[in-house]
Amino acid sequence: MATRKPALTTAGVRAAWGGHCLCATATPFRFWNGSTINMDPRTHGALEAMDSIMDQYHYAPTPPDIGGCVCRAITGGSLLSLHAFCAWDCNWQANPYFTYPAPRAGHCDMPVAMTDAICALTTRSDAPVWGWGGNYTSIKDYMHFEVVCTPADLASGIVGGTMSKQEQLLWFIKAGKEAQHFPFLRFGDSGAAVKTAQKMLGLPEPLSGHFGVGTKNKVAALQAFCKIRHPHAHAGMTINHTTWQWLIFNTVTKGRR
Ligand SMILES: [Zn+2]
Repeated sequence: MATRKPALTTAGVRAAWGGHCLCATATPFRFWNGSTINMDPRTHGALEAMDSIMDQYHYAPTPPDIGGCVCRAITGGSLLSLHAFCAWDCNWQANPYFTYPAPRAGHCDMPVAMTDAICALTTRSDAPVWGWGGNYTSIKDYMHFEVVCTPADLASGIVGGTMSKQEQLLWFIKAGKEAQHFPFLRFGDSGAAVKTAQKMLGLPEPLSGHFGVGTKNKVAALQAFCKIRHPHAHAGMTINHTTWQWLIFNTVTKGRR
């Protein structure tokens, strides 16, 4: 596992997202309650992950108090605000911006557990996804969420996030290509490839590297779950190309890489 990347600074985000306003190519993102904001399409996966958390808390981003991409300068400065790239504001009447330190209680209607969960989201490349203005150290901007990683980090996917069908299909095709590099394995085999399979199957460490009964049972369960066709008597006895493909795909989509 790579070490957790730090959140990018404002200057870092601006540089990573290209430095010029992206609103002209922003597309609508629809929240669980049907409201929409326009945002760069590369942020939509991050928004989806945030939206599913908001949905769990029945927290509704409600127009007209929400705003996506805006080509504007930072407050009191001339550089573009992160709102020109990857920040949005949520329910600004209930979560106002302050020019002085203001306590959360009475000034923010978002549940603590919800904003904590949003700020805990990470990409598969192990970068934090969202920064929240309510966590600014002195002045609070409770309405404000900003992406704090690069577009490449977002493109790696969100851990535990929902993937679109199209995204899943692309990963599945990718997994199929990768599966070509793994050998056909049979019950009784030993070696590095067996160990790799055992790791992907989630078998406990230390891994034996031997395709025994424990491994066979796990493979059989995977094949049944993923509806991988095989002669019934041979359930779990071999790891063929299709089984490798599912193993790799599951590992990617669970963010265990
Ligand atoms: Zn903002």
